[in-house]
Amino acid sequence: MSDKIYPPPASAVQGAHVSGMAAYEALCKEAETDYTGYWARLARELLTWQKPFTQVLNDSDAPFFKWFEDGQLNASVNCLDRHVDAGRGDRVALIFEADDGAVTRVTYAELLAKVCQLANALKARGVKKGDRVVIYMPMSIEGVVAMQACARIGATHSVVFGGFSAQSLRDRVQDAGAVMILTADEQQRGGKSLPLKSIVDEALADHSCPTIKDVIVYRRTGGTVGWVAGRDQWLHEVVADQPTTCAPEWVEAEHPLFLLYTSGSTGKPKGVQHSTGGYLLHAALTTKWTFDLKDSDIFWCTADIGWVTGHTYITYGPLALGGTEMVFESIPTYPDAARFWKMIEKHKVTIFYTAPTAIRSLIKAAETNDAVHPKHSDLTSLRILGSVGEPINPAAWEWYHQHVGGGRCPIVDTFWQTETGGHMITPLPGATPLVPGSCTLPFPGITAAIVDETGNDVPNGQGGILVVKKPWPSMIRTIYGDPERFKKSYYPPELKGYYLAGDGAIRDEKTGYFTITGRIDDVLNVSGHRMGTMEIESALVGCTELVAEAAVVGRPDDTTGEAICAFVVLKRPRPSGDEAKAIAKQLRDWVAKEIGPIAKPKDIRFGDNLPKTRSGKIMRRLLRSVAKGETVTQDTSTLENPAILEQLGQAY
Ligand code: ATP
Ligand code: MG
Repeated sequence: MSDKIYPPPASAVQGAHVSGMAAYEALCKEAETDYTGYWARLARELLTWQKPFTQVLNDSDAPFFKWFEDGQLNASVNCLDRHVDAGRGDRVALIFEADDGAVTRVTYAELLAKVCQLANALKARGVKKGDRVVIYMPMSIEGVVAMQACARIGATHSVVFGGFSAQSLRDRVQDAGAVMILTADEQQRGGKSLPLKSIVDEALADHSCPTIKDVIVYRRTGGTVGWVAGRDQWLHEVVADQPTTCAPEWVEAEHPLFLLYTSGSTGKPKGVQHSTGGYLLHAALTTKWTFDLKDSDIFWCTADIGWVTGHTYITYGPLALGGTEMVFESIPTYPDAARFWKMIEKHKVTIFYTAPTAIRSLIKAAETNDAVHPKHSDLTSLRILGSVGEPINPAAWEWYHQHVGGGRCPIVDTFWQTETGGHMITPLPGATPLVPGSCTLPFPGITAAIVDETGNDVPNGQGGILVVKKPWPSMIRTIYGDPERFKKSYYPPELKGYYLAGDGAIRDEKTGYFTITGRIDDVLNVSGHRMGTMEIESALVGCTELVAEAAVVGRPDDTTGEAICAFVVLKRPRPSGDEAKAIAKQLRDWVAKEIGPIAKPKDIRFGDNLPKTRSGKIMRRLLRSVAKGETVTQDTSTLENPAILEQLGQAY
């Protein structure tokens, strides 16, 4: 974490939903004084209930907590009908920009009509409350419609990212016992058509998924696809004669809205199950407070609907508030790496939320090709920036702040997880003074804390295990079909009933600000010195003339206990031989100067890229095997670029 402090500019404080630190502190105080009263108040203010709840939290079967248990609602009514009913049907809900730049706008009234038509079509094919429906679709209006249509009839959706293989899709369909798959003929990304339907066919081949009765196909590209009569149907055909209204299925607050399989950067994907009421509350609340969303905003979250970020901050949060948001089909580097900046200018985006991995790659692009630098676009519409998915290192933070935000936009570095449903530790843009590299303070009502291995609080300035002491409304309810794994993974007995996030963290001695130091299993012990891998990564990436990206893992070492291994992507072509040795020395000296000689990486390996999950996260478990010199035997199904592993074989 850097030692610079950026107080929120007056323009961000003025008129903010949470305006000034005193307002933030008052909310924290309210939650502390009357925890359930606080959440109940917000649940009544932000959501529309068909049957109001009288019970707030039921903790009698901990850690299987229940929120707003006797209340009933429908998520799609909260996201659509209530805005249309309030006379806001003509507001634009979605601004869709396709791969080729074509733009389609959909109003709330139009979106509701589409959702109802598809909901009716699903019901006509026998899908009912509680059934699981897999959505394997590109970024599209239809993808959002599919999720909302499931919510409307009480079916539990499970979105599988369109980059996953047939095997990964099959695993998820089988685990969920899904009755239907919604897909597209193909997806269009970066000027290319990529298969979807043929992957579904492969996943379902040999009767491997007997629970699937129907496959509904959105025609995106018009490419040729195989067809199984009786099973496959075109989306436009099944909705064609369906009415544009559909009575919602009222569900209990605890009814599972969706399952989402985590990205798998640390192990076998697990089906994280979320509720309807508690989840939707936090989706709406965090969109409102963390992004300070207002009617005048154009909100853009660049995540795919295949990840939790796309669920909470595309499909549910902004729509629950009646906001206007972008949905983007393509990739940040097509037709060139100025695409994001040009889109912000074109659509006058005011709030922009993306991942550090995208920022780092766009920094690299702008530094090698000035033509794609954000300075060539008019980004003055922006007022708030966000970051999610990984820690954002101070160097990337500063660049984002200066070159994208023009030095005037607060950056909300939002720490959260698939399991948490929404933001947990994050600045609020009109309140929190920012420190680059720190996700700052808990969201009001979230009891985040740092403890040791036995659940005792550790003092500020001392690193430990990140936990959440009290249950919160949008928390994971279980791992689908495996409640024991849920308990074991998130509520280990030695932690006094606290939720275990799996990340390490440290709080600043003076400010109490949180910095995430890496996954718990990424804490290294080198000759008795404990170090977060993140710290070393951040130092490496801080060598801005050389390094584009870096990942650090440990490997066993006879003399030092653990040795530090760094995987580095340079801003220049991948070196070898003497050149690689010279650069490796230069980097070691740099780290020694930045952190201390103890943090010097023993091995440095260069790649054109790093092994990442489809969601863009570095797969550290694979790097640990490579560092040990093992052949990689783990599940690489979620790996984006398997060829990279070979390049990383050589250590310098
Ligand atoms: P899996 O759980 O399958 O191994 P994953 O943890 O990468 O995959 P996600 O739920 O998408 O799946 O990511 C949550 C994790 O991402 C957090 O536990 C944390 O490690 C990291 N993370 C997310 N946002 C931030 C942030 N703002 N700062 C630091 N780390 C973050
Ligand atoms: Mg995780």
